[in-house]
Amino acid sequence: MPTFDSEKLLRQDLNDFPPYSMGHVPLADLGKYIKLDLNENSFGPSPKAIAALAQMPHYNRYVGQDELREAIARYVGVDVAHIVVSNGADEMIDWVQRVFLNRGDAIVDCPPSFEMYAFFARVNGARILAVPRRDDFSIDVDAIEKAISDFRFQISKSEDPNLQSAICNLKLVFLANPSNPDGGVASRADIERLLALPGIVVLDEAYAEFAGESYAARVPTQSNLIVLRTFSKWAGLASLRVGYCIAPQPIAAKILQVKAPENVNSAGIVAARASLEDIEYLMANVRRIVTERERLSVALAQLGFLQPLPSRANFILCRVIGRTGMEIRDALQARGILIRAFGSPRLHDYIRVAVGTPEENDAVVRMLKEIAGR
Ligand SMILES: *Cc1c(COP(=O)(O)O)cnc(C)c1O
Repeated sequence: MPTFDSEKLLRQDLNDFPPYSMGHVPLADLGKYIKLDLNENSFGPSPKAIAALAQMPHYNRYVGQDELREAIARYVGVDVAHIVVSNGADEMIDWVQRVFLNRGDAIVDCPPSFEMYAFFARVNGARILAVPRRDDFSIDVDAIEKAISDFRFQISKSEDPNLQSAICNLKLVFLANPSNPDGGVASRADIERLLALPGIVVLDEAYAEFAGESYAARVPTQSNLIVLRTFSKWAGLASLRVGYCIAPQPIAAKILQVKAPENVNSAGIVAARASLEDIEYLMANVRRIVTERERLSVALAQLGFLQPLPSRANFILCRVIGRTGMEIRDALQARGILIRAFGSPRLHDYIRVAVGTPEENDAVVRMLKEIAGR
């Protein structure tokens, strides 16, 4: 048999691609842990969603998305022409990039931030202008404005023929609001300054229901604003993968035109539609999580070696005094509790804990006390 070196055909620019560092628990072991590492919803999906999934008779059929889009449009309060659904908000991050970015175009990312913005930018061959957050994790809009004008200057003066021949542009500014991992929200004034930039602002509102604040209603009158949302966190459907964007009509139309028509599976569609018929139930759980967040935050601060940051989401980022985040994570994991620690130097002495049920939150505090006592 002739040998064919298929590896040679792979994109060379992906050689040093850093793998996404999220650890998964095998399905059979999920029940063995108190799982507070990935900001999932410990209260679970709506019982109506679970019933609708069990009664769904058409898994053998391809299912259209328009009724879900219309239900989302009613939920958000915008026309359906602004709504596109995706396989989780993650897929929409990719689509937003793919309809705007040519190879070499740039996005702005404000680390520490949600890792998928830079992840997909690398996959899509885009540049990443990283504008770090301030010490208190607020975004530095002065630095963002400067980075954008420096980038434009640098491109226009470049000696590099590749750069001169390509139409390189800074096009997208990604911002999670509330932010992940810190849980904070940007000030209204900062958002207005971002919207005045010569680019598209992609506001990732994965945690909007917990914050009680959204810019989605602004989209129909703001031609450079895209809002991303998801059913993963507030509706407890993380593994069914249903996200969506609220985008200016021409942008939504472009994504609809180029994405695969069956990108959301029928189970996700059925569960998301049933969730939108059970908003009262799900929002009661959101309110429980918000109440628990404040209670947990006080309890964590009382431990003496943790400094919780104020959060508007369903998780709490804590500075750890005298140890690394990884040490705390490993000690909790040995006691059956999963939380998130981080590899990046800036977050070495931090942990992120999702807010669980009252019993789960009590268990975290109890185990942290035990760890501190050693
Ligand atoms: C969890 C999360 C998402 C991912 O949402 P999916 O719909 O599950 O893909 C997107 N953005 C942020 C900031 C998140 O924390």
